[in-house]
Amino acid sequence: MQPVVRRTSRNENNLPVRDAAPGQRYTRPMDRLWTPWRYSYITRADPQARTGVPAELNAWPPSDADDRHCIFCNMIAAVDYAIAQGMPRETAEMAAHIVYRGQSCFVCLNAYPYSTGHVMIVPYQHVASLAALPTEAAEELILLAQRAELALREVYKPGGLNMGLNLGEAAGAGIADHIHLHVLPRWLGDTNFMTVTAETRVLPEPLDVTWAKLRPPFKN
Ligand SMILES: [Zn+2]
Repeated sequence: MQPVVRRTSRNENNLPVRDAAPGQRYTRPMDRLWTPWRYSYITRADPQARTGVPAELNAWPPSDADDRHCIFCNMIAAVDYAIAQGMPRETAEMAAHIVYRGQSCFVCLNAYPYSTGHVMIVPYQHVASLAALPTEAAEELILLAQRAELALREVYKPGGLNMGLNLGEAAGAGIADHIHLHVLPRWLGDTNFMTVTAETRVLPEPLDVTWAKLRPPFKN
């Protein structure tokens, strides 16, 4: 019988962590909780996952060559493909948690939100730089930020909001190649011991519920 060998490696804080056993997806119990910044790690652990494509829309891509290898480009392509195949627009957009689609930009929920109601405003165009964005898209980005402010205030009545662009990996962008404006409601005291000690945020609301709440004020 082969002995079980446990190797020990170090995490980003130079603390020892146990490596995953073969076939085990996660290395630490923390990973089973809600840890948005570990998204890339999680997707890497699941080679079957097509980035940006929700399970309900996985008829797309029709071939590997169509995969755009970008969470946002894949998301929009999967929605459009499903609609072209006969899926109702509402169903397809709900599956991708797309709240609103404009001319040059769309609004979707962050699948790994930092707070309930965390939306992202995303240009359709795959660009890594705000300066590279055509004027029309840049204008709509800000107009949708205004609309997001109103919608989030109306639905969640937060104490404040954060809005931000992270340009480049060094600035904290999880998806550095395709710019997106984060908009999230904040409340006093919304970071607690879980955030500080367990690198985990606790969210009280499923994404489907958030989508259903935000859809109407964005449409108006
Ligand atoms: Zn893209």
